[in-house]
Amino acid sequence: MIVVLKRDISKSELEQLQQKLQKAGCEFQLFEDGESILRIKSKQNWLSVDFFLSQPGVQNAYRITPPYQLSARKSPEQETHIHVGEYVFGPSQFTLIAGPCAVESEEQILATAQALSGNGIRFLRGGAFKPRTSPYAFQGLGIEGLQLLRKAADQFKMKVVTEAVSSADVSVVAEHADIVQIGTRNMQNFQLLKKVGKQKKPVLLKRGMNATIEEFLLASEYILQEGNSQVILCERGIRTFETSTRNTLDISAVPIIKQLSHLPIFVDPSHASGKRNLILPLSRAALAAGADGLLIEVHHQAEVAKSDGPQSINFAAFEELLSSLKAMAPLLNKQIY
Ligand code: PEP
Ligand code: MN
Repeated sequence: MIVVLKRDISKSELEQLQQKLQKAGCEFQLFEDGESILRIKSKQNWLSVDFFLSQPGVQNAYRITPPYQLSARKSPEQETHIHVGEYVFGPSQFTLIAGPCAVESEEQILATAQALSGNGIRFLRGGAFKPRTSPYAFQGLGIEGLQLLRKAADQFKMKVVTEAVSSADVSVVAEHADIVQIGTRNMQNFQLLKKVGKQKKPVLLKRGMNATIEEFLLASEYILQEGNSQVILCERGIRTFETSTRNTLDISAVPIIKQLSHLPIFVDPSHASGKRNLILPLSRAALAAGADGLLIEVHHQAEVAKSDGPQSINFAAFEELLSSLKAMAPLLNKQIY
């Protein structure tokens, strides 16, 4: 932390500030070269920018280390590998998670699992508890949806990715899922984050639609702090003034998060764009930008999908997407997983 002192700071204000720092057990150094500056080394989180700004005689304060700690990258080599049953994935792979927005019926999820696994896809997604903007929209099949998803995944040797929308659902979701998803609307539901941090399954944390990258990494910190190191971040588009897409895919978040954090970063072009004709170019952009994988909505009959039909691609479009990504992957030293 760098603290710039006011030119007219009194002797007693400076002494009192130094005493507070001594009492907090932190190292500090005073530089007086025209301006007076304190350089402070401290592990005390409460010694924040706000703390210093509220001290008499302080002009300004700047953090020089990030406010998140566990998710921060400490070296270029540091990478988190995610362990899901017999699968381990990390930066040399590009992992695809695909499936419908919501589990709607046994027929739908079995057909999807069969088509995806036939193409080598190992991670099946589908919402059982749906966080819908409107209370009148389809809310998901609940526990029945979880059971159908598990059954379909087991039949085709796939892993399940599904969302928990409240703390009360975490145990039942974790019991049926291999990866627990936290949606954009819950990125700052800190009780829910702590709850998923306490269970053992990997967590796929989506970026809040209004969250900065720093807020996103701080949200991951709530999960990591509880002892769960298996966190996958997912950029799913943010709210901007642009109306031609449902959200705006913040593609620069991918290389920025790679620089700031050791956690894997996925991209969800489906929720980012809201349009199926944008899934292919945005998926290619995600791979080129260094993402670790994708979350793609696939529906066998998008025209009758109960949620997110316009952004869902059919099996043929998924195959086309996969072959395009497979052609690109070797250029980026990645293997499609
Ligand atoms: C979803 O993955 O179906 C979903 C609801 O995503 P988001 O939380 O990003 O809107
Ligand atoms: Mn959806």
